[in-house]
Amino acid sequence: MKIIFATGNQNKVIEVQALLPNTIQLLSLKDIECFEDIPETSETIEGNAIQKAKYVYEKYGYACFADDTGLEVEALNGEPGIYSARYAGPEKNAENNMTKLLTNLSTKNNRKAHFKTVIALVGHSYKLLTFEGICKGEITIEKLGDKGFGYDPIFMPNGYKTTFAQMPLSEKNKIGHRGKAVKKLIDFLSENIKNT
Ligand code: IMP
Repeated sequence: MKIIFATGNQNKVIEVQALLPNTIQLLSLKDIECFEDIPETSETIEGNAIQKAKYVYEKYGYACFADDTGLEVEALNGEPGIYSARYAGPEKNAENNMTKLLTNLSTKNNRKAHFKTVIALVGHSYKLLTFEGICKGEITIEKLGDKGFGYDPIFMPNGYKTTFAQMPLSEKNKIGHRGKAVKKLIDFLSENIKNT
């Protein structure tokens, strides 16, 4: 069975393919020659994942899944949320995004936050399914660590004394939002393929 992972990030494709049974072949957007900007205009993380997966399925006819992730900060009413990538501007600069978040939180005592990933799967035999992964934690006072990407240097997961940017990727994947959502998707696909 062929299934599209609607992402421009080839590393994500390789990572997920390695976890799937070899009866499932993942194709990237590049593999199906989809080079257009897929619309992402929803007001929710879930809505954006669904919009991307549906777009590709309807246009290309392959079963498809897409992911969307955001950081939701309690004291900022869920900001930056769907704006996580471009919080400080369209240039999507991670340093500036973190600086803006730390500034906006500087007067707040509540630093609770969580990352949320939603994967939407659209296909022939299942109309639409979503798989969610959440990682709760808090925003640190300053940037700590140099691993990872995005907001990793200012996010400390619950139960840890280090930020995501101070831990090995293998550890982050075990407890992280994306890892949890991907595991649910893989469990579903592995089971589903066995039964068909
Ligand atoms: P995407 O939906 O995976 O492209 O993520 C959107 C944005 O959320 C990214 O550009 C990052 O700013 C942020 N983000 C997503 N996942 C992570 C993560 O694991 N660590 C830190 N930031 C992340």
